[in-house]
Order: sequence, then C-alpha cells, then structure tokens
Amino acid sequence: MIVCKFGGTSLADATGIRRAAAIVRADSARRFVVVSAPGKRFAGDEKITDLLLRAAQGDGEALRAVLARFQEMARRLGVEMDGELRRAAAEIPARGAEYAASRGEYLCAILLAKYLRWEFVDAAEVIRLRDGRAELQPSYDCLLRRLKPLKNAVLPGFYGADGEGRVRTFPRGGSDISGALVAAALGARLYENWTDVDGLMSADPQLVKDTVRVPAVSYRQMRLLGAMGAQVLHPDSLLPVMNAGIPTALKNSFHPERPGTRIDTDAGANIPCLTGRALQSGAALVAVLSPNAMALCGPALEALRAAGIRPRSLEARNDRLLLRVRGRCLPETLRTLHRALVEEKRARDAG
Ligand code: ASP
Repeated sequence: MIVCKFGGTSLADATGIRRAAAIVRADSARRFVVVSAPGKRFAGDEKITDLLLRAAQGDGEALRAVLARFQEMARRLGVEMDGELRRAAAEIPARGAEYAASRGEYLCAILLAKYLRWEFVDAAEVIRLRDGRAELQPSYDCLLRRLKPLKNAVLPGFYGADGEGRVRTFPRGGSDISGALVAAALGARLYENWTDVDGLMSADPQLVKDTVRVPAVSYRQMRLLGAMGAQVLHPDSLLPVMNAGIPTALKNSFHPERPGTRIDTDAGANIPCLTGRALQSGAALVAVLSPNAMALCGPALEALRAAGIRPRSLEARNDRLLLRVRGRCLPETLRTLHRALVEEKRARDAG
C-alpha cells in the first residue's frame, strides 16, 4: 500500500486535481492521499493558505478570492461544493487564524475526494497536535483505527486537533508531516511525495547551472539538507517514516513517468549533492553529500585551490564533506565543487 501526498503547486487548479486523480488511479496500491491547499498557478499568484491568513484578519477580498477559486475548480470538475463553501465563508473570519489557514487543505481534500468518489477523512479526527508538533502515538492510534477499515480515503494535510478538539496547524509546509504520519501509522510500503520538481537536484538550480537529479539519498543525508536550510521536504516529515522503515519517493506530478528521488535508510546519494548556508559569523558552510565522501576530499581541495578559494576548515565523514569558507565565496565554492565533483565526473563516466 502506498500513501501519496500532493503539494499545493500540483493541485493549484482543476487541471492539477485531474492530474493528481489520474496518478492515484494509475496504481490501485495508492489508497490514501494527503493534500496541501491549492498553491500558485503562475508567478505572482497567491497561495490559498496566504489568502486564508489574510481573510482571518478580516480581509474580505482575500476571502472572496479563496471562495471564487474553489467554486471555479468545483465547477470545472463537475463537483458540488456549495454547502461546504457557504459554511467556510461564515467560519473563516470567525474562528481564528489556525482554523482559517486549515480550510485550504480541508476544502481541497473534499474536492478531490468527491472527484475520485472516495471517502473524505477530516484530519481533526485523526491527527493530534500540541504546540505545532504531532503527538505521535495518539495520532497513530487514531489514524489506524479510522483508516484501517477503509479501502481508500483523501485526507487534508497541515492540521489536526489539540487535546480539546480545537483545530491546530503544523508550521508552513506541514502537509509533508501529515503524509508521513499517515504512511507510518498504516505501515505503508512507500510514501510518495508529489511536487512540481523532478526530485532532489545535485545543487540549487538558482545558483548552479547544469544540475542533475540525484536518484537516491539516505534519510540521514536528507536531515542534514534540512538542517542546512534546503527546502525539499519539511524536516519533521522524515523521522516518522524513517523510524518505520518506509522509503519516501520524491516525484513530479507534471511528469509522473520520471523516476524522481528515492530516500531510504541506507541508500546514500549516488550522485554528490551540494548545499550551502551562510552562517551568522560571516562564514558559510558547504556540505557535499556522497557515499564515498572521503574519496572526494582530494579532488574537492584541488578544484578549490585552482579557483583560488581557500577553505577555513574541512571535515570528512562517510557520507559527507563539510567545508567552511568565507561567506562571499559561497556561490563560487558551490559552482566550483559542482563542476569538479558532478559535471566532470559525469563527463568522464559518459566518455
Ligand atoms: N498549505 C500550507 C502552506 O502553504 C501547508 C502545506 O502546503 O504543506 O504552508
């Protein structure tokens, strides 16, 4: 059994919902689906969650924009949602920011469930939160009790309820956590996280040209990427599935045929993956994730020397190199190391 989570860009409009439904229907093992709220449809568009947070502050225009988007999606999908939208319109300005923010996922899950003709299960029934974090065991118990008897279901991500039954949200991007909790509770064989990118790339494509997809990476390496500030998955979504021994697949809903990236317990990054972060001290930290990181020390130092970059420190472990460089050298360090460790190696392997 596979648990799927779809991100906001994958569900931004009716076409996105249809695409997600087709992916889900393509494999009968995909029985439980967790959704984000609809995200941006184009550059400059607003995410439903951002509109809802404004609506909670009394911005009537933002509320109307949310309702209009869902109405349009429902109309194009031939789904009836008038009752739900009328209720949301009354509740969103009246029940506080967390409740308002949660309605994007809530309405999106109802929409997809109706379109698929699957059961909708409200996250407030099955996920327990305290101070923005999941209470694991109570959540697992509720999820298992409620979902086990079902053949299929769609659940909203990003929120649950506290001990008093009040709706509470995770931090932004938290639908990843919801998906991981459902997968862990049910002992899924795979957690699929569907977004609008091909998976983990060998570096940030905004900083480095010619990046390539990293086919596999370990949970430990993903946790380091999260600690370095890389926004691939919400960091709290890793432990539930890692501890349950469930691999995660990062997949592109716009190109489901592409292989994506697999995150597993021991699969190390089989292509080096680079990331960097400016530190408060004015220095910058660069991490190179690779299963044979020790062997990369020599080539890395040599490439940096040729580029006139002198690292202040270098630490090599089994699955990573950590370098400290001057803050202003960060982009050039990433580009130099990427050229030497990823691009030239690929060219050598190909030739
Ligand atoms: N919709 C929420 C956000 O924009 C949660 C999520 O997408 O994971 O952060």
